[in-house]
Amino acid sequence: MAASHAEGLFRRPRFDVSLRPFIIIWEVTRACDLVCAHCRAEAIPARNPGELTTVEGKQLIDQIAGIGPPPALFVLTGGDPMKRPDLKELIEHGTGRGLPVALSPSATRLLTAEALKDLRACGLKAVSLSLDGDSARMHDRFRGVEGVFERTMELWAAARACGLKVQLNTTVVRQNLAALPAIARMAHERNVMTWSLFFMVPTGRAAALSPLGPDECEDVMHFLYDVAGTVRVKATEGHHFRRIVIQRSILEQRGVPADDAMQFGPLYRSLSQALEPWPRTPRTHVRRSPMDVNAGRGFVFISHIGAVHPSGFLPLAAGNVRARSLLDIYRESPLFLSLRDGAVLEGRCGLCEFGPVCGGSRSRALAATGNPLAEDPLCAYQPGSFPYLDDAAKILAQR
Ligand code: SF4
Repeated sequence: MAASHAEGLFRRPRFDVSLRPFIIIWEVTRACDLVCAHCRAEAIPARNPGELTTVEGKQLIDQIAGIGPPPALFVLTGGDPMKRPDLKELIEHGTGRGLPVALSPSATRLLTAEALKDLRACGLKAVSLSLDGDSARMHDRFRGVEGVFERTMELWAAARACGLKVQLNTTVVRQNLAALPAIARMAHERNVMTWSLFFMVPTGRAAALSPLGPDECEDVMHFLYDVAGTVRVKATEGHHFRRIVIQRSILEQRGVPADDAMQFGPLYRSLSQALEPWPRTPRTHVRRSPMDVNAGRGFVFISHIGAVHPSGFLPLAAGNVRARSLLDIYRESPLFLSLRDGAVLEGRCGLCEFGPVCGGSRSRALAATGNPLAEDPLCAYQPGSFPYLDDAAKILAQR
């Protein structure tokens, strides 16, 4: 495989992720007026009096700003961040300290076109909106409140109009699989920055939903690979998308039909059919290659009460910013150290050739087995089974 082709299959932070995170997510509150079926935070309408205060939040921001350059990506999430009256102050503070601040709000009455304009004026760079169905019926059922689909469409237009970048988030469960091609089309037509598909982790309220099986997930990821030539995509808690990207690229380079080598299932065929006609760009590489980060390895989450987790879906805390610096916890806590040590992964993830760029979802491993180092049960790959492992080894060696 030509090195030029291998380059860009996945992106890596331009620094050592054992020393500092690439992306930092702060759950500013757990309060939210929606009752989404998949809510990780099991959010409720009222704020917790134990949330980090404005002063503590600013101190946290100062710590984060002190990590760069380059600055870490900084995302304020919830619950619904709009439930915090000091949100603008926090965004302004982060922006003033040189951080690119993004927001992950809920589409409730609190979020209006005017509010988006105000937040943009405070320096907000990007906003993520959730779309879990291609119709009001499907999306509103998922979110537990009527009218959210329509509001989301209006907010999407308003965010673009005031210059905010928009990431579209879709939680993938069996109930909304058929809607994925239509959502992909909307993402393309409305020029989203990124379409992020979240491969559900059975934690919080999501434990009651019906997640995909490994073969279905494989089909969705192959579909996502096809979409990725035209729309920037991201597979949240679907780290093995990086394996799919490498495998499909190798097959393309060798001129081997992917269908023969990867044995696509009926789900891939139906998604693929429903996607047509799809504007394909000549593919020299995946347009937005996946970032090589994972829970605790480039990624860190701070809860509403200051607890530091390797991911928002991994409910093990390694410390609290009220007692210790974020960077100390990230660099030195046994939990973060073990998550960065590929040698301790177990099961197929421990044997896998693609482990160095994947590592599986540690959150899903914990939710499924109680052990964050166990194999990711959503991955169908059997280590050693890909026929062009020498090609894969060359790509991984460039990592
Ligand atoms: S077996 Fe584990 S490391 Fe290998 S591709 Fe699957 S999830 Fe990733």
